[in-house]
Amino acid sequence: FMQMFYENDANLHILAEKTVAVVGYGSQGHAQAQNLRDSGVRVIIAQRNGKSADKAREDGFTVVSVAEAAQTADILQILLPDESQARVYKEEIEPYLRSGQTLMFSHGFNIHFQQIKPPTFVDVVLAAPKGPGHLVRRVYEGGAGVPALIAVAQDASGHARETALAYAKGIGATRAGVLETTFKEETETDLFGEQAVLCGGVSALVKAGFETLVDAGYQPEIAFFECCHELKLIVDLIYEGGLERMHDSISDTAEYGDYTAGPKIVTDETRRAMKAILKDIQTGVFARNWILENQAGRPSFSAMRRIDAEHPLEQVGKELRGMMSFIAK
Ligand code: NDP
Ligand code: MG
Ligand code: MG
Repeated sequence: FMQMFYENDANLHILAEKTVAVVGYGSQGHAQAQNLRDSGVRVIIAQRNGKSADKAREDGFTVVSVAEAAQTADILQILLPDESQARVYKEEIEPYLRSGQTLMFSHGFNIHFQQIKPPTFVDVVLAAPKGPGHLVRRVYEGGAGVPALIAVAQDASGHARETALAYAKGIGATRAGVLETTFKEETETDLFGEQAVLCGGVSALVKAGFETLVDAGYQPEIAFFECCHELKLIVDLIYEGGLERMHDSISDTAEYGDYTAGPKIVTDETRRAMKAILKDIQTGVFARNWILENQAGRPSFSAMRRIDAEHPLEQVGKELRGMMSFIAK
């Protein structure tokens, strides 16, 4: 087993004399900043003016420009969208960097694919929670934590790893467990996981199942419940106790169907597609496409987003969720 770090392996006192600037107050930014503050760390928010800046002020934070944070903070955790990080870094961070500072990321994309090339005199580390921002906050408030990965790309100070670990403790991750990785491994596995399984794989599977039932004449509402809504209940069981717990809870009929049908859905062809997706990530083809897509103003991204929003699954889902008062809006 690989080494895991827990509460006693990380020292929050390392951050005692330091100011952490959380750059970007979005999904991860709002969660990490509030967790750090509750852990006793001095935190400021670096944000351009607008909705997120207002939200940070409402939440009681001091909000400064990114350039000011780059000049004053000891640790800069870059939580801007991956596709704007390189430009903001070049214009508002790089000119002010000095020795002793730590550049931190929650995803390795821009360092690994060399969109950001920091000077050798700063530490460059990763502290990446393995969960959506809103859960990073909610789970922390409940006394627990979302696991995280740490990595060191540059260790100018000789303390880069301790800094990353202390930060991970501050956001609550050592309560769950922190694993050490590299920027390369985090970037490639993160992209693969979201594309092949968590987001791409699941979305396509749900839509295909829904369409199969509706095309066969079944009611869309029933198809929605069977192929989409129940997914959360199944995933919750897997999260709690693995496939075994899920298999214990479902009927033996469902379990038999699981073993017999699953391999017909994820076939050798599917595995070949997964390998091809991984190859495109490893060779930088995916990164190049995504960077070019952004430079072109996101034409395909916007089109695909619109097509997905118009999918009957989404229309039916919206109506049915509207009837379920216990689902947060
Ligand atoms: P969001 O899109 O949720 O938030 C980005 C924030 O940056 C917003 O508050 C936005 O504020 C601000 N922002 C956007 N553009 C600029 C700009 N040009 N200048 C200054 N501020 C800007 O990002 P995420 O939290 O999703 O992602 C942040 C990082 O965390 C990424 O590296 C991502 O890969 C990583 N990550 C994200 C996870 C998640 O749960 N979402 C999970 C794990 C890692 P506004 O536009 O209002 O000004
Ligand atoms: Mg990701
Ligand atoms: Mg059933």
